[in-house]
Amino acid sequence: MQAMILDRPGQLLQHRSVAAPIPGPGQILVKVSACGVCRTDLHVVDGELTEPRLPIIPGHEIVGRVEARGEGIQHFALGDRVGIPWLGHTCARCFFCRTQQENLCDAPLFTGYQINGGYAEYTVAEAAYCFPLPENYPDLGAAPLLCAGLIGYRALRMAGEAGKLGIYGFGAAAHIVAQVAQFEGRSVFAFTRPGDRKAQAFASDLGASWVGGSDERPDTDLDAAIIFAPVGALVPRALQGLRKGGIVVLGGIHMSEIPAMPYRLLWGERIVRSVANLTRKDAADFLTMAGRIPIRTQVVPYALADANVALSHLRAGQLTGAAVLLPEH
Ligand SMILES: [Zn+2]
Ligand SMILES: [Zn+2]
Repeated sequence: MQAMILDRPGQLLQHRSVAAPIPGPGQILVKVSACGVCRTDLHVVDGELTEPRLPIIPGHEIVGRVEARGEGIQHFALGDRVGIPWLGHTCARCFFCRTQQENLCDAPLFTGYQINGGYAEYTVAEAAYCFPLPENYPDLGAAPLLCAGLIGYRALRMAGEAGKLGIYGFGAAAHIVAQVAQFEGRSVFAFTRPGDRKAQAFASDLGASWVGGSDERPDTDLDAAIIFAPVGALVPRALQGLRKGGIVVLGGIHMSEIPAMPYRLLWGERIVRSVANLTRKDAADFLTMAGRIPIRTQVVPYALADANVALSHLRAGQLTGAAVLLPEH
């Protein structure tokens, strides 16, 4: 099969022909039809995430069809469409797994990080961590649901009941969360890079109540803010715009250093918290909801062989929406 492979962080992915994987017990072989490109992939490729199993095939927003089944698979049939997310395996034994917090598992394996992912024609996954996808999404449009959507959804849940919700960094995750938030009756305040008119127009199109640069402030205090941009300097800035008791949720897996700030920004029971990974319950809840809304995902398709181009466009902030790789079968 054709695959895009990371041999060493800091290098380009290598386009190679390798043997297709074989599913073991509890696993399914999936023929990939689309795989989203997530900012986390960029952190893996650039070496900001330091525990990849190398060489690795990145990609954890995988849509495909079951091509073969290992022993003991009951709930997926050959040909079924499945989605494969970031969470690929948990230990089922640690404190976190035993207390419904498998997203914090002490010994997890993540797709496209320790388990080969979807930048390939085929991939193998543990069936217990795969999900059926809502039928009203084509393969291309469903791919961004699997991380941008899922992690965004978990971040939104962490923001509590916030009626006035700020979103910093208006990319793949934000464009999905903004639609879910509005579906739930919330108002969205979209903060982009200063002067990024394209991202601001995109946020307006998606119904944001207020749109501006991260150096601007709406004339009302917000109940919560989610920061998707990997920029630590946004944390004090987001706190500044928050009412007492408000929450800042950090939605990325990596962030530049958070600068020192005066305690008064946190005073008044304001909260800063991160969101780590996902649980399978998050996935089931979100995908059910996504089927009902439905979300308009904006995707920019690339051929599998152009994965490096997609990553460089994401790195440069040139994407409006979500990049998705398409293997050419
Ligand atoms: Zn565990
Ligand atoms: Zn991701």
